[in-house]
Amino acid sequence: MTSKEPHVVVIGAGLAGISTGIALKQQLNCKNFTIYEKANNVVGTWRENTYPSTYFVGQPELQAYWEGLFHKHGLVVHTQFNTLYKSAVWDVDAQLYRIVLEDSITGAKIETQAHAIVFAMGGFARAMYPPEILGREVFKGAIWHSAEWDHRFVLQGKRVGVISNGCSVYVEHQYLRLTRDVNSKYPGWVQTLFAYVPGVMRLYRNIIMAVSDTVSLAFRKENTFVLKQARKGFTKYLKSKLPKEMLEKMTPSYRQYLQPLVLTETIDYPPHPHGILMGTAPGCRRIIVDVGYLDALQQPNVTVNWDGIDSIVEGGIKTKTGEVIELDAITCGSYAINTLPK
Ligand SMILES: Cc1cc2nc3c(=O)[nH]c(=O)nc-3n(C[C@H](O)[C@H](O)[C@H](O)COP(=O)(O)OP(=O)(O)OC[C@H]3O[C@@H](n4cnc5c(N)ncnc54)[C@H](O)[C@@H]3O)c2cc1C
Repeated sequence: MTSKEPHVVVIGAGLAGISTGIALKQQLNCKNFTIYEKANNVVGTWRENTYPSTYFVGQPELQAYWEGLFHKHGLVVHTQFNTLYKSAVWDVDAQLYRIVLEDSITGAKIETQAHAIVFAMGGFARAMYPPEILGREVFKGAIWHSAEWDHRFVLQGKRVGVISNGCSVYVEHQYLRLTRDVNSKYPGWVQTLFAYVPGVMRLYRNIIMAVSDTVSLAFRKENTFVLKQARKGFTKYLKSKLPKEMLEKMTPSYRQYLQPLVLTETIDYPPHPHGILMGTAPGCRRIIVDVGYLDALQQPNVTVNWDGIDSIVEGGIKTKTGEVIELDAITCGSYAINTLPK
């Protein structure tokens, strides 16, 4: 650290790390910063998750866009790839952090110092097979996590088991061709406006940002009226889309406080008189726009099984009722929450 300017260290070169780099340069005129990234390239989640989507913008386009920003803003010279953050200690006397890193390839220890650290390591970066489901190694078919999509496997005509019912599976369903192909591309005239009329795209983005921010404010727990209406609206939508036998299972309870169940393994929550906020009130969890998932679940080639998984066996999945569902492939879409760095 020869410069007199404070040294800022950013951990991670995903969307947050790249945005921080741009903001440091543009808004704070800071030139003395280093981004440490454990992988050999930028874009984090969207570098790794190559699972296909036919409705939303695909991974290659997202990756190209963020790589473009990374280069356009000259962040290459500020970035050290293949470098894993291990720990940092605040040195009171020197008034700086002493940081320990590791070369991801050789394992060599690297030390550096910084006046400020920005952690941009991502929240859901660790793909995880539910630990309670045993037997993955005995399965004779193909098995993969949605974060490590097996593009060589031809799904057509195969019996595929999909573990979990969350956001990743929701995106995958289009690739599994469970529903018609849809595409969210803007009409040609809108694309032309975006490309050639200055300010239109920025205005449009700002409107999206304003709407998103307003919506998230509207979902605050004091806004009981809004929450009630949202609950009503979402439940009505589910009712219009799902047959009776699925409705009860697919409708969230929308209870605000629950006793700690899942998250306590990774995060230490302070005790709350009513338990902890688990994000089941409308708006606490990400609201997903349904572009065909609920219809897909009702297609004749799809069965939704609620029996619970006992284990994975040679030929497929054994449910808690003892039934073995024969499968050629299994995909899984669950994630572990990244623990906060020490
Ligand atoms: C399957 C999936 C689907 C998602 N879908 C959406 C969506 O549709 N819309 C949306 O807005 N968001 C979505 N998200 C959320 C997504 O996490 C954000 O969009 C965004 O990519 C987060 O960026 P980030 O920079 O915070 O984290 P990340 O993209 O996770 O980047 C973190 C970076 O830090 C690096 N890193 C981690 N630990 C270390 C370490 N110890 N040392 C050095 N480097 C480290 C990682 O290698 C990575 O490059 C999704 C996430 C997942 C996992």
